[in-house]
Amino acid sequence: MEYERKRALLVKSLKEQNISDKTLSAMMKVPRHLFVPSVHMSQAYVDSPLPIGHAQTISAPHMVAMMCDLLELQEGQKVLEIGAGSGYNAAVMAEIIGQKGKIYSIERLEKLAVFAWENLERAGYSNVEVILGDGSLGYPDHAPYDRICVTASAPDTPKPLIEQLKPGGIMVLPEGEGYQRLYIIRKSMDGEVTKQDWGGVIFVPLIGHHGFKIYNSRRGQK
Ligand code: SAM
Repeated sequence: MEYERKRALLVKSLKEQNISDKTLSAMMKVPRHLFVPSVHMSQAYVDSPLPIGHAQTISAPHMVAMMCDLLELQEGQKVLEIGAGSGYNAAVMAEIIGQKGKIYSIERLEKLAVFAWENLERAGYSNVEVILGDGSLGYPDHAPYDRICVTASAPDTPKPLIEQLKPGGIMVLPEGEGYQRLYIIRKSMDGEVTKQDWGGVIFVPLIGHHGFKIYNSRRGQK
């Protein structure tokens, strides 16, 4: 009951930031406290990112809400998410696209893929599949996608993600190292790609083949 009250207050504050009713109603349904480590549960409805271990974070609720709105999600869509993390963003998108839609969410860190999968299972989201892998390569198995949501910052737009976006599709992704911008990428029905700058953001880096390269100091290798 206490969580519900805090959630309602958070949603009210998001309404004041002009988030759409569709996204607000999804955020009202998703129990964010089930997507954070137990030590952070009491802060689950503060509008801020929180640590989820392994140097990663669950994004702030306003950022999740904003990305859902920018994606213009519709019922029944097939969505690819890069960076499952806690599974929370996937759950909010899953509420919007409903049971006729499907979310494929890729996570590169095994422990977080398991964390996301367990959280989604516990919260009852059967229309989300969590995949362990390098999301900078996309997920060709179920391409093309109506929407692609990237939740880690890439050095450049990964080519496979453009290829795996349906004509008429929308992708949102942060780009840059340190100084990052969020972009809305649209593919027209005849395949033309346009890129719109939404503004400055802060995300963890996208690590992978079409992402940043990780430096492993123990092995002295990239
Ligand atoms: N969407 C998440 C949520 O709701 O909790 C937040 C994700 S966190 C900001 C970004 C995630 O992207 C991290 O869990 C990180 O491990 C993951 N990541 C980074 N590079 C990746 C890649 N190449 N493929 C898949 N996941 C990646």
